[in-house]
Amino acid sequence: MKINYFKPSVRVIFYMIIAIVLVAIFIFMLFGSEIAANKMNPQPTSQQIPVSEKVKIFHDNIFVADLHADSLLWGRNLLESTKGHVDLPKLISGGVDLQVFSAVTKTPSGINIESNSDKTDNILYMALAQQWPIETWKSLFARAEYQANRLKWFIKGSQGKLKLIGTKKDLHNLIEKPISEPHVTGVILSIEGAHALEGNLTNLKRLYDIGYRMISPSHFFDTEIGGSIHGELKYGLTELGVEWVTEMESRGMAIDLSHASSKTMDDILSLATRPVIVSHTGVKGTCDNQRNLSDEHIRKVAGSGGLIGIGFWPTAVCGSEISDIVRAIKYVIELVGVDYVALGSDFDGAVSVIIDAGRLPELTQALITEGISDTDIEKIMGGNVAQFFLKSLPKESIEQ
Ligand SMILES: [Zn+2]
Repeated sequence: MKINYFKPSVRVIFYMIIAIVLVAIFIFMLFGSEIAANKMNPQPTSQQIPVSEKVKIFHDNIFVADLHADSLLWGRNLLESTKGHVDLPKLISGGVDLQVFSAVTKTPSGINIESNSDKTDNILYMALAQQWPIETWKSLFARAEYQANRLKWFIKGSQGKLKLIGTKKDLHNLIEKPISEPHVTGVILSIEGAHALEGNLTNLKRLYDIGYRMISPSHFFDTEIGGSIHGELKYGLTELGVEWVTEMESRGMAIDLSHASSKTMDDILSLATRPVIVSHTGVKGTCDNQRNLSDEHIRKVAGSGGLIGIGFWPTAVCGSEISDIVRAIKYVIELVGVDYVALGSDFDGAVSVIIDAGRLPELTQALITEGISDTDIEKIMGGNVAQFFLKSLPKESIEQ
């Protein structure tokens, strides 16, 4: 007897492969970015510190600010409670008055802190998975524009709970808001890496007009503006970079030295006429690795009248507890004084963090337990950031 086994033709196999690929793409688009977001930004596991009623009241009454969050990248609705490190409910429960949101426009695959080239492009996958506009597939500028639009969309939907801060006046109004009024978190836009300019300084005005107020010269690879500490060549500021510094300063946009090569830091610090910021970093004095700031650079940044934002991720502070963040903060205070230290969490920055935005009162409690004075805690938790931006932000108003 002859058995008729099903023998698929080449054409049927071809269609089956196409169907499998389409299903895989569909699943990738539906869940890809959420799976990546949860996997790459795990929730904090540090030991919880009980916060006394008195400290809660104190924390709610001081101006709390954080210099760095990459939350716009992950496709989450930040108006709802999420599994991320920052969202509106966490900003409210954490008493955050000012949060800097940073756009990430290109990162290399196989990302590491030693050496990366610009040849690969991880963010393209994020753009595809989240169905960003087609122009973002190729244009890094368009990616920055898209992430700013996302923040503006959240601001619109927040019923006044989020407010874009683009000028001195915006920030002044936020600070002066009577405590009896409902909580408002001010938000400032920044960019990780000047590759978003696509090598063209005329794009700086466009980024300014969109609302960006702080940019770092590089992120994980060397750029047309300056070398990265994680780049292949780690060169200093380029000729275009020198022009960029002048233009940034003339527009009232803050220069962020995070991720910059040592040479780029030196070049900018000797050229800058305004205070510079290191938005998210650790310090070699408590955690000696390539990414962290040397004593010499801490002194120079403080000497510019700038700020050092201490990160909350374990490789920034060499530990996984709140006491490790406190140790780094105290180190900066002992080296250069309390006026130059701030919080630079790196929330949602593809890292695990020691605490999320909702747990910031625990940091205030830890600083009090450490014996730091109320006046100094006010500066550390956000007072210094308020002073910095009150001086550095431009006067003119922007479209919202
Ligand atoms: Zn970063």
